[in-house]
Amino acid sequence: MLDDFYTESDDVLNDECGVFAVYGNDDAAAHTALGLHALQHRGQESAGIVSFSNNQFFSHKALGHVGDNFNSKDVIESLEGNVAIGHVRYSTSGDKHTRNIQPVFAEFTFGGLAIAHNGNLTNAGVLRKDLIKEGSIFQSDMDTEIFIHLIATSKYLRVADRIVDALKKAEGAYSLVALSQKKIIAARDPHGVRPLVMGMLGSAYVFSSETCGLDIIGAEYVRDVEPGELIIIDKDGFHSSKPFAQKNQRFCVFEYVYFSRPDSFVEGKQVYDVRNKIGAELAKESHVKADVVVPVPDSGVPAALGYAKEAGLPFELGIIRNHYVGRTFIEPTDHVRNLGVKLKHNANKSVLEGKDVILVDDSIVRGTTSKKIVNMVREAGAKKIHMRIASPPTTDPCFYGVDTPDKDKLIAANHDVSEIAKIIGVDSLEFVTIDGLYRATGEKSRKNDSPQYCDACFTAEYPIEVADRGGAAVPLPLFNDTKRNK
Ligand code: AMP
Repeated sequence: MLDDFYTESDDVLNDECGVFAVYGNDDAAAHTALGLHALQHRGQESAGIVSFSNNQFFSHKALGHVGDNFNSKDVIESLEGNVAIGHVRYSTSGDKHTRNIQPVFAEFTFGGLAIAHNGNLTNAGVLRKDLIKEGSIFQSDMDTEIFIHLIATSKYLRVADRIVDALKKAEGAYSLVALSQKKIIAARDPHGVRPLVMGMLGSAYVFSSETCGLDIIGAEYVRDVEPGELIIIDKDGFHSSKPFAQKNQRFCVFEYVYFSRPDSFVEGKQVYDVRNKIGAELAKESHVKADVVVPVPDSGVPAALGYAKEAGLPFELGIIRNHYVGRTFIEPTDHVRNLGVKLKHNANKSVLEGKDVILVDDSIVRGTTSKKIVNMVREAGAKKIHMRIASPPTTDPCFYGVDTPDKDKLIAANHDVSEIAKIIGVDSLEFVTIDGLYRATGEKSRKNDSPQYCDACFTAEYPIEVADRGGAAVPLPLFNDTKRNK
């Protein structure tokens, strides 16, 4: 039963998201739509924007891509005001869950408040159960709604104090932006697991999950919101505080491996550069004689370039990606996912035929993608296939906002490297070591007594306790239907 809950909670509550906010620009909604478009890779299921003007909030939310839903003058003009926040969401649930589209909005005694959140609370079940006992009625299964109830039940008067009070009760990962009648509030959890940066567009303040959201509107990057920092922007300008107990910084290393866009700078480092260096580390650690280095596009490209340069081998596009298909991972069932891989990639025979190939990808999760790709490369005439992976084996699920399958679906949780090599059908398989990954980020090595990053998906060392795992809460019956189609 407890295991059931753990599984269910993992399936339902994890989501990958992007957040964006503008304060003090007449085109706030248009800029927010553009910012969300740049953050589209962080979530493709739904998008939403809430703005405020003249004592009124305006909202537009829809399932699907930003470009398909915020593309008309009418929609943008309906989002009045010079302040706005927005959100893109990826989740595992189906289209019946429009109630889960963010930003979440609620009316409080102090007025309205909209919240957009990236991350995952690890005590969401416990908090939800307690709130329900005290009379809260939930409309969705999102962690973000928990913030709403905690803010509503807080005894403090000022909105900022209520938000701090609510965040103090929340455990887990959050990078969030909120919009009240007078302020924009941005906050990051004390470990700083998910990214959040601040920029300026003239005199307007901008917040974005990644710097690519600033670039698209020509905003200037100012700095990252610091772990445990709460920033308020209002008519008097910028106010920063650190109201939470200080914790060791544990930024998610998987943001570098896969999740962030390569042109973004997160935590001061360019994602492309880190990926390139992971490839170089891989070549140093596990090079093998071959004719050509081929990336699995797009996620393996920067690492493959780094590998090829380090190894002095030609880099060739031996697999061509069709860009009109979404990320393969997004398909809910294995059957559709398998089909997705075929729809998405095709072998470039002229590069592969008769060659010994080093195939580079960012990660192996279930192994489904690799198996299909390897088969495709083999059918195109490759003599030998040596697969090199730009992250250590993914052995454990993420509870902090990156959607990962249950542990029993993670191929590396159930098989060692030589077994995985056999399953996916390669002649050799190597993963970068955890120290190699850390070196690529500029560290000498992983400090095992106090790691510089959250790397729980590779090490099972979870920096934040996952309270819900203890079974302190049970899933709400209404939400059972959101269980992922397995
Ligand atoms: P698979 O091994 O078939 O489960 O798919 C692994 C591929 O999916 C990796 O090479 C990544 O490109 C991509 N991937 C890894 N983690 C995620 C994630 N959390 N969400 C979406 N895609 C992912």
